[in-house]
Amino acid sequence: HPVVIAIDGPSGTGKSSTSKAVAARLGLDYLDTGAQYRAITWWMLSGGIDIHDPAAVAAAASKPEIVSGTDPLAPAITVDGTDVSGPIRGQDVTAAVSAVSAVPEVRSRITRLQRTLAAGAPRGIVAEGRDIGTTVLPDADLKIFLTASPEARAARRSNELKGNGGTPGVAATREALLKRDAADSGRTTSPLAKAGDAIEVDTTELTLEQVIERVIGLVEE
Ligand code: C5P
Repeated sequence: HPVVIAIDGPSGTGKSSTSKAVAARLGLDYLDTGAQYRAITWWMLSGGIDIHDPAAVAAAASKPEIVSGTDPLAPAITVDGTDVSGPIRGQDVTAAVSAVSAVPEVRSRITRLQRTLAAGAPRGIVAEGRDIGTTVLPDADLKIFLTASPEARAARRSNELKGNGGTPGVAATREALLKRDAADSGRTTSPLAKAGDAIEVDTTELTLEQVIERVIGLVEE
């Protein structure tokens, strides 16, 4: 049967790079669920919706059409036909996404999209996020929970942002990451959490290649 792999954890632990590489090497689809929450957040910000008003966010939650590409080598995402792969990585979206994704109507809508994509993946899927193993795909064949020290995570994220043309320092990045983790872990609907049957992998001292091999080794077990 198609293989379903859930990779959860906070940001900067290597979730995206690991998930894409595992999917590409195993010939599976790839789903970046954070990109979906970012896309709906981008749409709300563009439309002038007050993202700190949960009722306004809830009322708008079903309006945008979000289409996720599931090719691990080119994971594009569109909102109402516009490719938002670039803009969803902006600091404005990053700062707003936790508030939007805490709204239950947003989560139920996006969770439905995620389950449809997973069910339609011919050979299987690697889905990465915060609640895949606990809520979205609780019957996944393999659940991984990635962690890393705040220092390692901030250093990685700060490097990525530099690659995207930004120049935030490691200290500011660390603070923003921890703030987002606290919000994601503290919300009442499907918070960032390790599933009871997930395997925790601490990536602090590991290279990306080592993490990828570890996960593939677990799939093959
Ligand atoms: O993974 P990424 O950092 O792009 O996720 C952006 C945000 O989307 C997270 O900080 C979180 O608020 C939200 N998210 C979520 N549930 C998921 C994936 C992401 O709430 N499964």
